[in-house]
Amino acid sequence: MSFADSPVLIVNRGEIAIRVARSCKALGFPVHCIYSDADRNSEYLQYSEKAYALGSSAPKESYLNIEKIIKIAKKSGAKLIHPGYGFLSERAQFVEEVTQAGLIFVGPTAASMRTMGNKIEARKTVDRLGLLRVPGSLDRVNSAQEAAGFAKQVGYPILLKAAAGGGGKGMRRVDSENNLPGAFDAAAREALSAFGDEGLYVEKLIINPHHVEVQIFGDGLGSAIQLGERECSVQRRHQKIWEESPSPLLEKFPSSREKMFEAAIKIAESVNYAGAGTIEFIMDEKGNFYFLEMNTRLQVEHPVTEWITGIDLVGWQLLLATGQFKLPASIPVRRGCAIEVRIYAEDPVSFLPAPGAVHEIRLPSGPFVRVDSSMMRSGEVSVFYDPLIAKISVWANDRTECLQRLRVALDETEVRGELNNVDLKLGSLMTNLRFLQKLVRNTKVLAGETSTDLIIREKKFLDQTQTPLNIEAAIAGALVNLTSLTGCPQHKHMVSLWERQARNEGILYP
Ligand code: ADP
Repeated sequence: MSFADSPVLIVNRGEIAIRVARSCKALGFPVHCIYSDADRNSEYLQYSEKAYALGSSAPKESYLNIEKIIKIAKKSGAKLIHPGYGFLSERAQFVEEVTQAGLIFVGPTAASMRTMGNKIEARKTVDRLGLLRVPGSLDRVNSAQEAAGFAKQVGYPILLKAAAGGGGKGMRRVDSENNLPGAFDAAAREALSAFGDEGLYVEKLIINPHHVEVQIFGDGLGSAIQLGERECSVQRRHQKIWEESPSPLLEKFPSSREKMFEAAIKIAESVNYAGAGTIEFIMDEKGNFYFLEMNTRLQVEHPVTEWITGIDLVGWQLLLATGQFKLPASIPVRRGCAIEVRIYAEDPVSFLPAPGAVHEIRLPSGPFVRVDSSMMRSGEVSVFYDPLIAKISVWANDRTECLQRLRVALDETEVRGELNNVDLKLGSLMTNLRFLQKLVRNTKVLAGETSTDLIIREKKFLDQTQTPLNIEAAIAGALVNLTSLTGCPQHKHMVSLWERQARNEGILYP
């Protein structure tokens, strides 16, 4: 098949659509994209030559609507379909329909998605390979009684997890048999409403674990390589907000790292995996690790790996899809340290989404600072989709330097909601930016002691964070001596957007 001048259709939105478009352009592919009503004015549309309307904004009617997307794909003349992450990126049915339409899905086959992208099937595969997974039931459990049987085997506390779960949703901790029947019914109801599937399985709850994952890349012919690990233990609501490589925990256990890499490659090769994928593990403080799940797609946090390996992962995906890829003869060298943080539109206390208008945004720059965002000047965080505003990642020779660089980058960043939004109204934008600015100064984070319960353990330290949303708060914030608040002398010289606005309005000292 010749790919000359045939566009890549990116069937996603936001920052990942821009990210993918950049690699397409670098390799000479024209870029086409799709948009829903809510995205009519989104910045990412400016990165593509043609944009096709999907209509309604609800995901089911737009970015998850296979029929509409296949129709657009045929009309666009695209030969390659890039799914980004989320939405249809892990739907085997979508891969099949793309293939049936004579087009190429940039990603793994439907078969490997069915085997490894499904949590239960993946656990069975890992068992067959003789690797360690989190202990618990191998299959779905049909009743609280059945769950209690597994809980007895592995010991309390356990986690009830939705078989069709994802995005940190559908998990429920159970500490004793007495609580199991109630928890089981509630978890099944939640799973049904969130995923349309009430199936649950049981896992032993690993106490204060670390989340460590391995980036792999497979050639689709039975060979795969590892591209290093990422530690993603800083989480809220079981979802990542900070990812880094190398993993501070694995630095203490070099032999666990080698075993983890071997396990990840074995899993990828067992399904003839094609392209970028991530094998996630849960690890305890003694260096024991257990398979958690596989993500059969590009990961949100892939920039961390790109920093330490110098590889353009999307570029590799495109080369593989067009038959121009060969795995390197030796494993790419990993250099230095990289950290990524995710700025979300969310309440910094409850961590629930708080989307709204972004009146002004100032994103950082400087040596070894990367920003992945679809908001360059202003925009809107839609209620319909993931409330990610920006990913900021930095690279340095070592972790200490990397943390310093990240602190400066976060201090340069400002995200501001509606202009003159004097009252804190429901529907006003809130962000976790101040929270992240505190996090990068936390002693546990600085020491690399970041198990998944860190945010709960450090609540007191992190709770001082507030995101000023209005002029009153801006004045209050600006008048506080920020040096004493953060212990960071750089703040003295920063003029925040809040402060600038107050100055413009003559409310604050010049
Ligand atoms: P999802 O697919 O919804 O993201 P995962 O299975 O990947 O769910 O788990 C997300 C996070 O939840 C993990 O990174 C970890 O913090 C926590 N978690 C999941 N399973 C366990 C477990 N068995 N013990 C302890 N923590 C867990």
